[in-house]
Amino acid sequence: MLRVHNTLSGKLEEFQPLQPGKVGMYVCGVTVYDRSHIGHARALVCFDVICRYLEFVGYDVKFVRNLTDVDDKIIKRAVERGVPAHQVSEENIAAFNEDMRVLGCKRPDLEPKATEHIDDMIGLIEELIEKELAYESSGDVYFAVDKLPDYGKLSHRRLEDMMAGARVEVDERKRHPMDFAMWKASKPDEPAWDSPWGKGRPGWHIECSAMSSKYLGQPFDIHGGGNDLVFPHHENEIAQSEGAKGAEFARYWLHNGMVNLGTEKMSKSAGNMMTIAACAEEYGGEALRYLVVGTHYRGPLDFSVDRLQEQKKGLDRIYENLARADEALAGRSAQAADEVRDQVVAAFREGMDEDFNTSKALAALHDGLRAMNRHIDAEEWPQATACRQAVAQIAGVLGVGAQSPADYIDAQKQQTISAGDLTADQIEALITERLEARKSKNFARADEIRDDLKAQGIILEDGPGGTTWKAT
Ligand SMILES: [Zn+2]
Repeated sequence: MLRVHNTLSGKLEEFQPLQPGKVGMYVCGVTVYDRSHIGHARALVCFDVICRYLEFVGYDVKFVRNLTDVDDKIIKRAVERGVPAHQVSEENIAAFNEDMRVLGCKRPDLEPKATEHIDDMIGLIEELIEKELAYESSGDVYFAVDKLPDYGKLSHRRLEDMMAGARVEVDERKRHPMDFAMWKASKPDEPAWDSPWGKGRPGWHIECSAMSSKYLGQPFDIHGGGNDLVFPHHENEIAQSEGAKGAEFARYWLHNGMVNLGTEKMSKSAGNMMTIAACAEEYGGEALRYLVVGTHYRGPLDFSVDRLQEQKKGLDRIYENLARADEALAGRSAQAADEVRDQVVAAFREGMDEDFNTSKALAALHDGLRAMNRHIDAEEWPQATACRQAVAQIAGVLGVGAQSPADYIDAQKQQTISAGDLTADQIEALITERLEARKSKNFARADEIRDDLKAQGIILEDGPGGTTWKAT
């Protein structure tokens, strides 16, 4: 039984989708004004794993994640660069897709763009005006928060408390200081669309209300995002959607925790932010993914380059174990011992059923790897085969250890050497030379070759199948 923590109730709840066997999930995507950073990587990976697990246990998942391609930051960036706003967003969407690829995230079923849904947003705003939950004011349209009795139910705050905590600026266009804009009159030279209130552009919150229910209906099952979005973004999405339709908006609200850089909270303004591309180039996207998966999605994630480096080494070890197993099992076609496989997978599911506890799930993966090694050492092939299969299933959900081990190790070698002076061919040639030296009992030369390579970070390992090498 899967239980999820619902921000709306503040409790763990049994997960029961609206329609048996089907899940509709909407996650807030990125604003495409710049490269995505490790804070985004966390949200992307967390919800990718959640989606994969729901599919793994048999749900047919419809996953929608938006792209915010009209926004103040995009406009500002376009002005700075002297290019049209759509050029800024198109370039960053292409970069974002590449970030998703290196992180091993599946593309959602739908990735709607705000600029392609302006009519849907205008329609929703019109419904709200008709219900007197919104009003027009000098070309802007605001949501009237005090007209909705349960405004604040997601962030568990009452309007008075919000007022007390916020630095409320006087804005004569608003009737209540906490009212928020759903439509903004545009300034000259800004992207603008025709509307019943004149030329303008949508606010941020309205796009998610319009696009989620357009593709998933209302209510739908899961709404996700970072916990920095609970207020005001998600609170305002609820206000708009429930206000307009008079029906529940989303049933389970899942929020991932933030990324800490040392003691500093990872925020868009942090100067020492790292992009996904920078991490991936140095350590590989899968190492970053492994780091994210190691922490429960709701908790804070402490990020450091040292930790990323450790994860990279850990990942290398996982693939070394898998490569060893694939070699040992090749050609044996042993019938897998089902009960051994099921036991490993059951431990994984137990972790994931606890609100997607990926750190427990990873522990099950490592237990499976250790059992696999033990069975290989004991030449217990049905059990070893079963463990290898279990590990593959778990790896497929977590996206850690799911590549072909041989391909991974080859790619690592290529990457390491491209950073140094030796090519793979040169290393192989030295290994051959060392072998010849040993055959002719020139052990001094053989040792010299081994030591020279070691000094360059290349470790030789002699085994029954010959000499292999790895880069440290
Ligand atoms: Zn959103």
